[in-house]
Amino acid sequence: MSAECFVIAIDGPSGAGKSTTSKRVAAELGLSYLDSGALYRAVGLAALEAGVDLSDEASLSAVLERTSIEMKDDGRVVELNGRDVSSRIREPDVTDAASRTSALPLVRHHLIELQRSSVRPPGAVVEGRDMGTVVFPDADLKVFLDADAPERAHRRAAELAAKTGAPPPLEEVGRAMAERDHRDSTRANAPLRAAEGAFVLDSTHMSLEEVVSAILTRAAQMRARK
Ligand code: C5P
Repeated sequence: MSAECFVIAIDGPSGAGKSTTSKRVAAELGLSYLDSGALYRAVGLAALEAGVDLSDEASLSAVLERTSIEMKDDGRVVELNGRDVSSRIREPDVTDAASRTSALPLVRHHLIELQRSSVRPPGAVVEGRDMGTVVFPDADLKVFLDADAPERAHRRAAELAAKTGAPPPLEEVGRAMAERDHRDSTRANAPLRAAEGAFVLDSTHMSLEEVVSAILTRAAQMRARK
């Protein structure tokens, strides 16, 4: 990452609104957008398709060696070995597989360079679980975006309903989310947590506009100091 890059790292649990917020902030500032979760999802899908044990590092290593993952169109398109898997990686089996395989150091190590090299001047808004803590520790602004669990379940259910046209059972969404967040927060490698010095934003009672505006204000302060 070069010094001419302005990087905003946004981490937080699922359903906190990271993607929508990150895309909006990136558009407002003319920065690119990195959805690191999409990369972990692509790995989860590769593992599922290969039919390997999701906790077996040796088998996964062999899968990753013959797998190419690419992001195109500012993160809107994800390709696995040249095939567009952008929709497939959002399905529940891949969501679960991604959360399992992402706990493995081998997988995290495999993706770290891809994430760092994707950021070019003038910079990017990078979104995930360990952006501020591990991948971009020198980010100009680190944000930890949170919301309480029922609100996050609501937001995720609404998102799924918009995509599929059918609202999923809220309880099921909440349960799957809690399980995934627990796994993401308790893993030994790059667990989900707020980076030191992060701007912690509880968005439970905030609109998208308010969240975006709070981050833009912080970003302007950081840019003035740069
Ligand atoms: O953000 P998203 O829900 O798409 O991420 C899918 C999964 O990928 C997460 O549950 C998490 O296990 C993993 N992930 C990660 N580190 C990141 C981004 C995502 O471990 N930086």
